[in-house]
Amino acid sequence: MENQIDTQMEQRKGRRLVLFPLPFQGHINPMLLLATILHSKGFSITIIHTNFNSLNPSNFPNFTFHSIQDGILESEASSKDVLALAKLLNTKCVEPFRDCMVKLLSDVSEETISCLISDAFFYFTQAVADSLRLPRVVLRTGGLSSFVVFDAFPLLRERGYFPIQDSQLEEPVAELPPLKVKDLPVMDNVDPDSFYEIIAGMVNESKASSGIIWNSFEELEQSELDTLRQEFPNPIFPIGPFHKYYLTSSSSSLLAQDQSSISWLDKQAPKSVIYASFGSLAALSEAQFLEIAWGLANSNQPFLWVVRPGLVRGSEWLEPLPSGFLETLNGRAHIIKWAPQLEVLAHPAVGAFWTHSGWNSTLESICEGVPMICMPCFTDQKVNAKYVSQVWKVGLQLENGSDRLEIERCIRRLMVEKEGEEIRDRISKLKEKAKFCLQQGGSSLQNLDSLVSHISKLES
Ligand code: UDP
Repeated sequence: MENQIDTQMEQRKGRRLVLFPLPFQGHINPMLLLATILHSKGFSITIIHTNFNSLNPSNFPNFTFHSIQDGILESEASSKDVLALAKLLNTKCVEPFRDCMVKLLSDVSEETISCLISDAFFYFTQAVADSLRLPRVVLRTGGLSSFVVFDAFPLLRERGYFPIQDSQLEEPVAELPPLKVKDLPVMDNVDPDSFYEIIAGMVNESKASSGIIWNSFEELEQSELDTLRQEFPNPIFPIGPFHKYYLTSSSSSLLAQDQSSISWLDKQAPKSVIYASFGSLAALSEAQFLEIAWGLANSNQPFLWVVRPGLVRGSEWLEPLPSGFLETLNGRAHIIKWAPQLEVLAHPAVGAFWTHSGWNSTLESICEGVPMICMPCFTDQKVNAKYVSQVWKVGLQLENGSDRLEIERCIRRLMVEKEGEEIRDRISKLKEKAKFCLQQGGSSLQNLDSLVSHISKLES
């Protein structure tokens, strides 16, 4: 058996993979983890990255890095318009990415490149890969369930769901139970046609690829997986949760993680703390921020709160808080700029995660058995929140713009009442399933083997 594995590793030597992450935290983390997983399977790894949100190669000595000049201007990089930035990246990166690939492919001293693995949102890379006759595999960093919804956009458009009308928000989407119109993965305050165009690019070029990798696991999204396997021409590999492969992986965090959160958690009672964090992109109005602050304060639970600089529109950091806010809480609160989130969620003191329902955060919470309070902001977060609260029933959903009373009530339901106990029970069971899929014979490990053999057979 061992000899067989050695031979397989030997055969794969000289097979290089080129990975291209979308330069946002929630996309960089899973791509770098995937790189670590595939490296452990014997592949050599090259990472191409943009100079916007540039990566630090010294954290990953086993990989080769190439930086491309994306031409993103300072003003574009600092704009809060993620959609516009994604679109710009898909146009401005075409030439530099192509040039970089041509150089890599023509370097005869290097090993053969098996394929490109690109973030699904870098949809321009399919045409580049085709023109270079290089197979392209896609990493979709979100869930399968939200992808099913994105894939249904043309149908939903045809049936008049878009643009979304306020009067229809509470109506069910008959084609996609249990979603209501308000759960559809759209973005407020952006041009709906622009958004539609990006989603269509992402879905269509994923379908055109040689395979799609997902940071999810079969037992979590079985029926969505069945749907996509039926409808998609290319193979699908749910091989997550990536961060639970127990390989030593370096941090790909763009911001410094404040370790004081762990020493603070060490002093709190088991399962007593609410960990509140809204990811790397979500932004709040000052009014929303204050309702959250008072909701947390009035809950009487200890809380660890990540307030990312820029989280509150128009503020640097904590200026909107009333003076003396923290002092009156007598050490019951700890506010930081960025957390070592995986460590925080695994800490025994954490009893609930108040999240914006980004896919990584959702999966990380499930893996630690931490029940969620969901406050989705945009796109797939809305679908994730619905699945957490209504399908897997491992959390509660707050409506956007909730007031402090609703927040307080929601925290009570989760932390104190019987309903919370049932939710905790369910998420513990889901945590076990997540563990199981990475044990010998588990679904994700089997899918990883299929992926490795699929990649090994791809011919450029
Ligand atoms: N994260 C972190 N520290 C924080 C908040 C988030 O390390 O204080 C990490 C988190 O573990 C996750 C990623 O940042 O891997 C956020 O991804 P997610 O999909 O949840 O949300 P996004 O930032 O893309 O909206």
